[in-house]
Parts: sequence; C-alpha cells; structure tokens
Amino acid sequence: MDNKRKIRVRFAPSPTGLFTMGNARTALFNYLFAKKNKGKFILRIEDTDIERSEKKYEKDIIESLKWLGLDWDEGPIYQSERTEIYQQYIKKLLDSGQAFYCDHTKKELEKEKKEQIDKKQAPRHICNKFEIRNSKFENKKKGIIRFRCPDKKVVFDDLIRGKLEFNGSLLGDISIAKDKQTPLYNFTAAIDDAEMQISHVIRGEDHISNTPKQILIQEALELKSSQFAHLPLILGPDKSKMSKRHGAISVGEYQKQGYLSEALVNFMVLLGWNPGTEKEIFNLEELIKEFSLERVHKGGAIFNLQRLDWINGQYIKNMDTNELTEKCLPYLPKGTELKFAKKVVALEKERIKKLSEIGELTKFFFNDELEYDPELLIWKKMSLKEVKNNLEILEKKLSKTEDFDQKSLEDLMIPLREKYGTGELLWPLRVALSGQSNSPGPFEIMEILGKEKTLKRIKKAIKKVSL
Ligand code: GLU
Repeated sequence: MDNKRKIRVRFAPSPTGLFTMGNARTALFNYLFAKKNKGKFILRIEDTDIERSEKKYEKDIIESLKWLGLDWDEGPIYQSERTEIYQQYIKKLLDSGQAFYCDHTKKELEKEKKEQIDKKQAPRHICNKFEIRNSKFENKKKGIIRFRCPDKKVVFDDLIRGKLEFNGSLLGDISIAKDKQTPLYNFTAAIDDAEMQISHVIRGEDHISNTPKQILIQEALELKSSQFAHLPLILGPDKSKMSKRHGAISVGEYQKQGYLSEALVNFMVLLGWNPGTEKEIFNLEELIKEFSLERVHKGGAIFNLQRLDWINGQYIKNMDTNELTEKCLPYLPKGTELKFAKKVVALEKERIKKLSEIGELTKFFFNDELEYDPELLIWKKMSLKEVKNNLEILEKKLSKTEDFDQKSLEDLMIPLREKYGTGELLWPLRVALSGQSNSPGPFEIMEILGKEKTLKRIKKAIKKVSL
C-alpha cells in the first residue's frame, strides 16, 4: 500500500437514471472512507453518453446526495467538459499503435461472439484486420476506436476481495471511444482516476471486470493506478441482484415516503459493512469514526425493508417533537395548525415507522363526520342498549367538566369504570371518538380534540345506536 499517497476518492455516477440505493451506498462508503482518513471526496458526473444522460437525473443525484448529507469536497466535475483531455490521450494511444480504428460491422461482431460462446470462450473482440499505420489520430477515419489489451497478467490487491488476477489477452480489443469526440466509460474513468489522483476507487462489485481494463489503459499511458475496493452487491430477499422487481425505488422516492435521511444512511452502511458489535444505530459522526473497509464483507448484502422500517422508526421515536412535526406537516391535511399538528405527532411518534403514516393514523382527528359501523361500538357481549346507556352517562359526565387534560379525565372516569366496567365504558367511547377499532386511548384523544368536539362525537355515536 502506498502510504504516502493523499487519500482522494470519487463518486462517479452516470446521470442515466434515478439515484438508487446502490448508488447512495457507494457514495456513502466513499464519503466515510474520505472523512475517516482526512481525505477528499470528489463528485464526478460521468455524462459522456449524450443519448442516455439527462439533466433531470443529474439533478436527482445532486439533490439526493445533499439530502443524505454526503457533501463533496470537489466537483461536480463533468466529463462532458473534459473532451479535450480525453482526446489527447486517445491521440497518444492511436499514434503509438496501442489503439486503432476498428471497422468490423455489428454483424461480424455478433458472429464472432456467437462462435466464442459456442466454443465456451469468454466473448471478446479480437480485431484481426487492423492496420496500425492507418490509425493515426489525424486521419479522417471515423468510427469506433479500440485499445488492444496487452497479453499479460493484470494483478491487483482488492481491499475487500483480496488478490485478483486477470489475463489481458482474454479481454481482447476493448472499445475506448465511439469516435474521437466520444470517449467511452472504461477510458474516461481510467484517465480521470489518474488525472484526479484518485487514491482509492471504491465502487460496486459489478465493476470488477472493468478494473483490469482500466489498469491496462493507465499502464499503456504510463499513468498511476488507484487502489481498488469492490463493494458487495445488494441482493433482494430472494438473494438475486436487487432490482425493481424487489420493489427497489429511488432515494428520492424513499424520501417522499417519509424515510429520514439519517435512517437511510444508517441502514445503508449496514448493507455490506459490519460494525463488529451488536450496535445498530449510528449517526454520521459515529460512522466516520468507526467505518473501515476491512469490515466490509465480500458476500452480497441482503436488502431487508423491515429493517429499514425499524431503523426509521427508531429515528422518529428519538427525534425532537418540534422537529418531527415540521417534517410531518406535508403529510397532514393542508392548513393544519402547528400547535395541533404537534399534539397529534407527539401522540403517534412511538407508533409510526415512516412520516407518511402520520396522515392515515391521525386522519380521524381532522374528520368531524366519521363513518363507521355502529356494531363497532360494541364491547364483547354488550347490547346496543347498554352501549347507548354508557355513552349517555359519559356525555353527561363530560359535559360537566372543563378540565380536558388527560390526567383529569382519567381521574373523572375512575368511579364510572368501577361501576360500569372498563371495557364497557372505554371501548364505545374510544370508537365514538376515533371511528376505528385501533387508535390511541380515549383520554389522549379527548385532550387533543377538546370538549366541544368530544361531546359532538359522543352525541353522534348515541344517535347511531338509537336507530
Ligand atoms: N459511471 C459509472 C457508474 O455509474 C461509474 C463506475 C465507477 O465508479 O467507476 O456505474
């Protein structure tokens, strides 16, 4: 290991789709590694594929990174603005004969691939008709430019997977540019990682097969290579690669559903990294302290939505109620007063797993015309007549008091409960107030609703059972 090298890592997304959990995890591991080692975290937008790159995706990447709190030290650096740099390197390779124009047709390439697969060989293109002398950069030739991988072993020490070995000749002649103006991924990544003095390339395991290609390109240009760390794949619960089929959604979508950024970060770090203790909840600062690549495992990381929900629930539970209320407001009816919102949020805070649930759980507070089946008011074997009777007693008692705080209300009920039975009294009351079979207790609800609304709801219930 090159100990003297300054730590510089990069996150290099292509803006060709929405920002996924996989992207975010790669960004997070790079960020943590940089912070832990007092290095730099660089954001590089790999937008050389003009047809597939879109501004909206770039915006999504940037907004999601900011939301997650993964601030970068340099960038965003756009590859689309670096064409001239790439051209100089393409020229070098063409002029030295290490790269060449290839005019094999698509049909020929497909035929070659099929033959190789039939012979159980690794599919690759070997150009047998290239003419080095015709391949100089200055010539008018258009079309794909290829780099001939030299026939030699490429060995690198992956910080997660250990020593990996590839055979250059098996890689064949790899495409590095569609034409002089349009370089391709393996080439631009190799150039930029060297030019930007990236000390460690930390990225998904799906890029392992690209690594020897990038190293060979760097060697051909006498550029320095980085160290590599390939992160395990994120797998769905069925252990196949995580995809839309498993309900994978973008980070922006998790945000909309009411997951907190801190919870998502906490969840993501555990997708591949093992803290070595039972501890499960970590804030970003703790992670910076404790993170290490040595504790990233090789095996796939299984995505478990219940775990995410649990972690999110923990963050919600422990959040300051004022702060949580602000975050819940978008999920409550428009125009909800902050003071009122705070009360309902405090009541449900322990129960919700994501912010979006607050709307559904508290909707009865905002609806004065509750619809429910009168039968729901019945506790166990009570008759409708008994229900009515108990509700009338409650109405009478409650109309005489002005103290609508939870404690006073509870005290008020003690003698009644003894006389009429707790379930017999409180179940119909709770249903009258909430219209639901599941809800917080009646005292908490009454305190929030206040006297007027409470009495109105009880009267309505009495009417329901009077028919
Ligand atoms: N643009 C590539 C991607 O999004 C980057 C891979 C890399 O980190 O080298 O997959």
